Amino acid sequence: MASPAPLEIVAIPAFADNYLWLVHDPASGETAVVDPGDAGSVLAAAEARGWRIGQVWNTHWHPDHTGGNAAVVAATGAMLSAPAAEATRIANIDAPLKEGDTIRIGEHVGQVWEVPGHTLGHVALIFADAGVAFVGDTMFAMGCGRLFEGSPEQMHASLQRLAALPGDTALYCAHEYTLANARFAAHAFPADAAIADRLATVAAMREAGQATVPTSVALERATNPFLRAASVEQFAQLRTAKDRF
Ligand SMILES: [Zn+2]
Repeated sequence: MASPAPLEIVAIPAFADNYLWLVHDPASGETAVVDPGDAGSVLAAAEARGWRIGQVWNTHWHPDHTGGNAAVVAATGAMLSAPAAEATRIANIDAPLKEGDTIRIGEHVGQVWEVPGHTLGHVALIFADAGVAFVGDTMFAMGCGRLFEGSPEQMHASLQRLAALPGDTALYCAHEYTLANARFAAHAFPADAAIADRLATVAAMREAGQATVPTSVALERATNPFLRAASVEQFAQLRTAKDRF
């Protein structure tokens, strides 16, 4: 069987530095939104394209990812899929997501991975057939999420798991933090040419008003300082250093 047509994925900027992701499957006409922190911008972006949102997918409970859930559902009748482990903090989940579950849009089937660290119930949605992963606030371009709930052990394992995806997998993270992350990476690894090159590239892109997300697994393996950590202890030291940077 031929693989389905590629997904169309649109970045909707929101708040200071969030990206809300609108996901459209041209073959079926289905549309989903990932982490609608703000409903108005999501609904406007879908309407402008003639797309009807049928699903809302949450990676974790933080309000900048879930604040628009209710309004999007009210406006569209969309079905809400969100982490089962965060059901006490995310209202009205239709499909609670756990490790090993699948999520669908048209013919595309995504795998649900539990990637704790930033929050304890955080999930990533991995669409291997489309080469796409929605990673929320777990991995960022040249960075990773803060450890609000989870342990360094958990986040280290979650990042290493994502880094083992095929190199050409596009990583859709939820914030434009890349320039600040690149500056920290260059500070932590001052002799690293790949990091220095990417810092220059990212600075030029931001100067030109361009988004630096999505990133790719290969690019993160090459330049993400948190993937360099050979042990949980090294990871924890780097994360603490970044928090203070
Ligand atoms: Zn978050």
